[in-house]
Amino acid sequence: MELEVKNLSKSYGSFEVLKNINFKCFPKDVLVILGPSGSGKSTLLKTLNLLELAQDGELEISGQSFNFQQKINEEQKISLRKKVGMVFQQYNLWPHLKVLDNLTAAPIKVLKQNKKDARIKAKELLTQLEIQDKLDSWPLLLSGGQQQRVAIARALMMEPDVLLFDEPTAALDPKITNQVVKIVNDLKHTEITQIIVTHEVEFAKKIATHVLYLEDGKVIEYGDQSIFNNPQTEKFKHYLNM
Ligand code: ADP
Ligand code: MG
Repeated sequence: MELEVKNLSKSYGSFEVLKNINFKCFPKDVLVILGPSGSGKSTLLKTLNLLELAQDGELEISGQSFNFQQKINEEQKISLRKKVGMVFQQYNLWPHLKVLDNLTAAPIKVLKQNKKDARIKAKELLTQLEIQDKLDSWPLLLSGGQQQRVAIARALMMEPDVLLFDEPTAALDPKITNQVVKIVNDLKHTEITQIIVTHEVEFAKKIATHVLYLEDGKVIEYGDQSIFNNPQTEKFKHYLNM
């Protein structure tokens, strides 16, 4: 098992944003987290790499265990993030570094990789994601879809066990969305566990091995991808327009 969340609850002040969440993932799984806007999807994703801390529950991820009732220090967070990569909706590339340097900066600094090896690996990944012709470009001069692929390549440079995506197709046109579908499906041939937040059902159906449906911070439905055709709750049926 790659990841397990047990009885996770989180509040912002008196507002309970996540309510007793439980799920687990194995290597090669693609878990899609669906739900209406404001249901807690992004917050849940951020707790998985400790960008947000919960107040209650446990997280086991990539061989590390955390109990949210105990203090989690910076060292633990840094150690976790070496193995749990995140691709944000708004790409977050470093604007002052060219594409190739965006990919190699963290492996050189954090993983102490030598520069030559890092550059070779970066070029391989950019080739795989069909964006090798942009390695010498400034990120902000790229299209949204190109920036998205660079962001994915940058996350893959760290050789993560788990890759988290928040709305990776928001603001992308259908052709680019299909490139993201291909990237995610190609990564199923590795051992990486992917967890993908989205509210686009058609995109979700093309990639999911498992599905978690959230409403108001609660898991309404959770299962393998067959629940798309066989939803058990009225709420999820309604969300799927069935
Ligand atoms: P989703 O990604 O499903 O749209 P979010 O996880 O972003 O939902 O937000 C869930 C709820 O938590 C929303 O009601 C949002 O307003 C609230 N929320 C998110 N971040 C914060 C924060 N930093 N402080 C207070 N409330 C927040
Ligand atoms: Mg969100």
